[in-house]
Parts: sequence; C-alpha cells; structure tokens
Amino acid sequence: MRVDLHTHSDRSDGTDSPGELMHKAAAAGLDVIALTDHDAATGWDEAADAALDAGVRLVRGIEISTCFDGTSVHLLGYGLDPEEPVLRAELSAVLRGRFERLPRMVEALQSMGIDITVADVEERSDNAAATGRPHVADVLVDKGVVATRDEAFERYLMPGRPAHFQRYAVELFYAVELVVNAGGVAVLAHPWARGSRHVLTPDVIGRLASAGLTGVEVDHNGHDDAARDRLRAIARAHDLVVTGSSDYHGQGKVGFDLGCNTTEPREYEKLFAR
Ligand code: AMP
Ligand code: FE
Ligand code: FE
Ligand code: ZN
Repeated sequence: MRVDLHTHSDRSDGTDSPGELMHKAAAAGLDVIALTDHDAATGWDEAADAALDAGVRLVRGIEISTCFDGTSVHLLGYGLDPEEPVLRAELSAVLRGRFERLPRMVEALQSMGIDITVADVEERSDNAAATGRPHVADVLVDKGVVATRDEAFERYLMPGRPAHFQRYAVELFYAVELVVNAGGVAVLAHPWARGSRHVLTPDVIGRLASAGLTGVEVDHNGHDDAARDRLRAIARAHDLVVTGSSDYHGQGKVGFDLGCNTTEPREYEKLFAR
C-alpha cells in the first residue's frame, strides 16, 4: 500500500485541479492520497468524486498557515470538519490576510518598475481559495521577469526580500487545538525545512505532542537524511506518528513528484486509529 499524505491542487498553489490530481495519483501507483491545500478545503468534493472514479482512497486534509515565535510553520490537519465554527473563523482570517497582503506585494513590485497588477495575480489564481506568493511568482514567470517560481522567491518574495510582507497566521499551539476540536488529527508539516528548524526544537515538538499533536512529517524533500534520522528519533520519543509525503504542487514545484516520499502503512493506520 502506497500512501502520500500531502499534496496541493489549484485550490491553493498547486497546478492540477483536484480531479486531475486524483487521476495522477492513481497513475503514480498510489493507493491513498491526501489533498492538503493551504488554508482551504474547497477541493474536497471534486477530489472525492474523482477518487472514486480513479480508484484511490482520498484523505481530506488541509495545510494550515500557523506561526510560532515569529516564524511561519505549516500544520497538516486530517479528517477535520472545516465548518467547525472556531476553525472556520480562523481559516477565514488567514484567507482574508492573504487578500490584504496581495496589493502590498504588487505595489512593492511596481515600485521596482515591474509591470504587474492585482488583477494579473487574481487571473492566475482563478481557482484558488488561498491566493499567495506562488501565484505572484507565476505572474512574474509569465511576464519573463524571472525564469522560475524559485527565482521569484529568491529575488522578491522570501522573508527579507523587497516584496515580502507578513500576513495573518494562526498561533501554532492554538491551531493544534482547533484541529483536534474539529475532530481531526494534527501533523507537523516539514518541520525542519525552510527556516523553521530553529524554532521547532525537540523540546517544542515534545510540548506539541502533549498539546494534542499526533504526528510529524519526517520524510519530505526539504529534509536531508540527517534531519530525517533526528526527527524520527524525536517522534519516537514522544510516541508521535511518522509520516512521509511528496508535498506535490504540480508544475509549481520541481522534484516533488507524487509518491516521491510515502508513509508506512503501519504509521498511516496509527494516524487514523487516534
Ligand atoms: P504563502 O503561503 O502565500 O506565503 O506562500 C507559501 C508557499 O510558497 C509555500 O507553501 C510554498 O509552496 C511556496 N514557497 C515558499 N518558499 C518558497 C521558495 N523559497 N521557493 C519556492 N516556493 C516557495
Ligand atoms: Fe505551497
Ligand atoms: Fe508547507
Ligand atoms: Zn504543502
């Protein structure tokens, strides 16, 4: 059984529709696939229909934008009710924060002489509930300002770069509580990829486990072998489930193919036994 517990569709910053994604998952030989768009569950229904068609099992998930100690941290929630009122209000606040950030990013780019408008980004992110930096990056690629999404982040969109602006994110421990209260299980996404390693210390991961965290995404392309070994040991020490996933974004992320990392069937079963 091949299980991939973290993927994105065009409801956030992936490039496949939820339906296409389910068919690609089947073609990639996956048995179980989680759809985990950023801050939105708007792809679930389409994915569920297509998953039946394609013969894969869909896990309904979401990747919540959270913050801890001033740093952006991603939290995966599975099997939760996105309509649970408190969770729903927080997700709406994150999505609102995304829309408020957009004109600031665009203005900063315009002030550097780049020809880009909010409408360009909205057109590029037409199907997305969660509009974000990757869509701005895509417009910059379309216009020939940069060659790739990565280059757009490097030059303009990463923290410390001129078109980077903070937006609202849910406090990490509170987000764990919200996922649990909404009937779901919470898994820390790629904890030691991209700059969150310094805040997600072994001690903090232990405290998250006590606060209701169920698992840690260990096998992820953002982690080298040493990081994976260390995270696996930390997870074991706190009786946390170990997951592995692709974090597939379609054309949006090179080298993150469906099933490039997978979750052990045993760990998958533990995750949903809780
Ligand atoms: P946002 O939530 O709009 O701030 O954008 C965050 C998303 O951008 C992440 O989920 C990644 O998919 C993508 N991303 C973040 N950093 C980079 C980077 N350095 N290069 C390419 N994509 C990135
Ligand atoms: Fe993303
Ligand atoms: Fe993420
Ligand atoms: Zn992701």
